[in-house]
Parts: sequence; structure tokens; C-alpha cells
Amino acid sequence: MPKFIVDFMLGRLARWLRIFGYDAEYYSGVSRTGLLYQSLKEKRILLTRDHVLSRKRAWQFLLIKSNFFLDQLKQIKDETGIEFDSNRLFSRCTFCNVVVETIDKQKIKGKVPEYVYATHDEFSHCPKCKRIYWAGTHLELLQQQCEGKELWKKTVKH
Ligand SMILES: [Zn+2]
Repeated sequence: MPKFIVDFMLGRLARWLRIFGYDAEYYSGVSRTGLLYQSLKEKRILLTRDHVLSRKRAWQFLLIKSNFFLDQLKQIKDETGIEFDSNRLFSRCTFCNVVVETIDKQKIKGKVPEYVYATHDEFSHCPKCKRIYWAGTHLELLQQQCEGKELWKKTVKH
């Protein structure tokens, strides 16, 4: 799976890549040189809206055309060939970019809304910030947002 690093103008895009399970680093206040260094060092595709930056040497880069995140995701999909697979949704913390770990249902009692606890059996949490994720997290919102864009492949979990 390709890894990404995004410039400071694309924080929202980084969050969305993480929602889809992709490793997307985002630092605010980092210099252009810092971004390029990180891209080369960790073989990350640099996503940027910065024309100056796009002329320098990153490991790989993609100059993002649109201001709108769904079109940005579509461009990444079209130009890198990555898949947005519903099976990988919320496998990574959207705040920390860390892979989440499954956690026993008993351990999170009282930490999620009661209706969520009653209607879900599988939960995971971020080892770093301890945020709790479950299969339904924002799923409806996500489906509405992605409608018409044919952005993601819906696969059935067995
Ligand atoms: Zn986290």
C-alpha cells in the first residue's frame, strides 16, 4: 500500500485517506524541505497544492488540482491506481495516523453511547489517543458524501 505525506493545505485530505486506511502523514508548520525529506526518507507520495514544491524533488508527488476533498480523492485514485476498499474503513486513527487495535467489548462499556454499545460487537481503539472506533462510525455520512463519485469499492465482510 502506498504511503502519503500531505502539505499543510491538505489536512482534510489526510484525514480522509486515514479514514480509508491509508498511511497519510500530515504536519502543520513543517517547511518545504522538511516535507521533501520525509517523502524521500520514508518513500511517501507527496500530495501538494504548492506549485513551487511540486517542481522540487520528492520521492513521488502529485499536484492536487481541486479544492474539494472528494475530487482530490478521485484524482489520487485515478493517478495512483489505489483502491478505496470499504473493508479497510476506520482501520487507522484519523487523528494520529496509527493503526487501530481491536478491543474487548467489555472494556469500553460506558465509553461509547449506549445505543452503539447495544448494537455493535466489534470495537477497536487507537493505542495512542485511545479514541474508540466501530464499524458504523460515520458510515452513513460517508456513504452520503461519496454518493455519485463511485469512489469506493464496497466489499462484503464474511
Ligand atoms: Zn489516535
